[in-house]
Amino acid sequence: MIVLIVSIGGIFYPKLGYILLLVFATLLIIAPFRGRWFCGNLCPRGSFVDFWLAPLSRRLAIPLFLRSMWIRIPIFIALMGFMIYRLLGTQGVVDRIGMVFVTLCIITTSIAILFGVIIAPRTWCTFCPMGTLQRIMGGSKYQLKLDGDLCIDCKRCQKVCPMQLRVFELQDLPDCIKCGRCVDACPKDALIFH
Ligand code: SF4
Ligand code: SF4
Ligand code: SF4
Repeated sequence: MIVLIVSIGGIFYPKLGYILLLVFATLLIIAPFRGRWFCGNLCPRGSFVDFWLAPLSRRLAIPLFLRSMWIRIPIFIALMGFMIYRLLGTQGVVDRIGMVFVTLCIITTSIAILFGVIIAPRTWCTFCPMGTLQRIMGGSKYQLKLDGDLCIDCKRCQKVCPMQLRVFELQDLPDCIKCGRCVDACPKDALIFH
């Protein structure tokens, strides 16, 4: 709902764009300790795509190349560059600054909706610059641990993972958004966060 308030309401009341600053600040505080926890538990756009796009989505496999840092870093630089370029042109006017954030929200939400419908709900979250930033800041923190002795290889955890991660493989998952769905779905309690 916050995504719609900023994207639509912000056109008429640009100061709503400052909500994005609050979002940025929150994820920057959390990321060094919990990696992408913000994405799976607090992000307004994350819950927007989960709730609204899930019924509409074709639910296809997210293309592997979208996970590559060779794609993600340029997208990060392009969107941050766009934001800084626009901010430098605002001459410090409060409404114009707010409108930069509103524009950013409209662009990224439109991409998220498009990819979310034609591929899978969390496709945007695979290469979202804020997700990439959290991964860089704390991708190794608060990892899932799999007890290989308990696991029966049923792969239920992978089926429920909104990021389509290979949960049951014994490896670090820096793009895990700590939503806990795999933990809840596991019939053997083989997964815990540590
Ligand atoms: S990846 Fe981006 S849009 Fe998705 S939940 Fe994280 S911060 Fe939000
Ligand atoms: S691995 Fe588990 S906690 Fe991480 S994103 Fe997938 S379902 Fe959520
Ligand atoms: S749901 Fe649990 S038991 Fe099944 S593959 Fe995943 S970790 Fe193993």
